[in-house]
Amino acid sequence: MKFNTKAIHGKQEHDPSTGAVMPPIYQTSTYAQTSPGAHKGYEYSRSSNPTRTALENAIASIENGEFGLAFGSGLAAIDCVLKLLKPGDEVISTNDLYGGTYRIFTRVFEQYGIKFHFVGMENADNIENFVNENTKMVWVETPTNPMMNIIDIKKSAEVSKKHNLLLVVDNTFATPYLQNPLDLGADIVMHSATKYLGGHSDVVMGALVVNDKDLADRLYFIQNSCGAICGPMDSFLVLRGIKTLHVRMQRHCENGRAVAEFLASHPKVEKVYWPGFETHPNHEIAKEQMRDFGGMISFTTVGDNLENALKIVENLKIITLAESLGGVESLVGHPVSMTHASIPKEEREKIGVVDSLIRLSVGIEDKDDLIEDLKNALELI
Ligand SMILES: *Cc1c(COP(=O)(O)O)cnc(C)c1O
Repeated sequence: MKFNTKAIHGKQEHDPSTGAVMPPIYQTSTYAQTSPGAHKGYEYSRSSNPTRTALENAIASIENGEFGLAFGSGLAAIDCVLKLLKPGDEVISTNDLYGGTYRIFTRVFEQYGIKFHFVGMENADNIENFVNENTKMVWVETPTNPMMNIIDIKKSAEVSKKHNLLLVVDNTFATPYLQNPLDLGADIVMHSATKYLGGHSDVVMGALVVNDKDLADRLYFIQNSCGAICGPMDSFLVLRGIKTLHVRMQRHCENGRAVAEFLASHPKVEKVYWPGFETHPNHEIAKEQMRDFGGMISFTTVGDNLENALKIVENLKIITLAESLGGVESLVGHPVSMTHASIPKEEREKIGVVDSLIRLSVGIEDKDDLIEDLKNALELI
């Protein structure tokens, strides 16, 4: 089955009790038993719920995985993965990382004796320099946020296999439409389904997909024991989102290219970070492991002036200033005053997060309107 068909039908069946084409929102906490332990596969909705099961199967299907698990947020999914570890264990992680991931690593799990190394992974050989006998996991985010660096998943998997480490890939930015980390050797794929999978900025959710049965059992044990599941209504919404993922992504990519090319040609724009450009330092890897380049773009303006950046984000009319990404509507963010505000200037500038950096999540509106909106805002500086 090809991707576009999988997005709609993958691992899905019509509701067995009524034939409903979409699974009902099973808004129930418990299930009747005819005799203790005799039930139809569902006992209690923390452990499993039919709407959530349908969603977990759909996510597994589009990631080419065997087992899916859905959580109340992306961070709840990350929390579940980290609970595979024990005090003394070490993790090697991408250095240009989603802020909330950095926070749970350093402010929550370091307290429990887990050690994190933040490493520039654009050269995958760099990972090996940080491996020791305590290393258990490699955490990769690609494309990275907000610098749009690309990390070679296949090479990261080779290093991880060689040293018997679990490779986790946060596939939120790319989505399974653009890349499938399990096919490239990753052990766990993680998603903030809040973003492209949901796709309509109306739900917060996370997910994991794996192929290994033993690993799936361990993650399920943690999911059920710690309880950070998503509810049936949210499961329904994300399942509905997935059914149009391929159509939305196609347009995100098309609009992303048009906006990136417009920005690159604008005299007031200094740099555009988008992996689809041949001049992007990791373009060749992007071309190899991704099917297209997506709608996430960062850019800076000439002179790197903070006031100019604020003027642009405050004066966009269609593109909305807001946290988050991956919805049908275009969103803009200013990392220095939003996601990266707590990182010292010197630290953030080392990875390229300068005062004028602006991040766009290009939506699926008409591309001419988006370009016009950006053009008008850029004229003000
Ligand atoms: C949003 C996001 C997360 C966290 O997910 P939530 O659903 O907000 O908890 C993790 N990784 C990436 C890349 C994200 O964009």
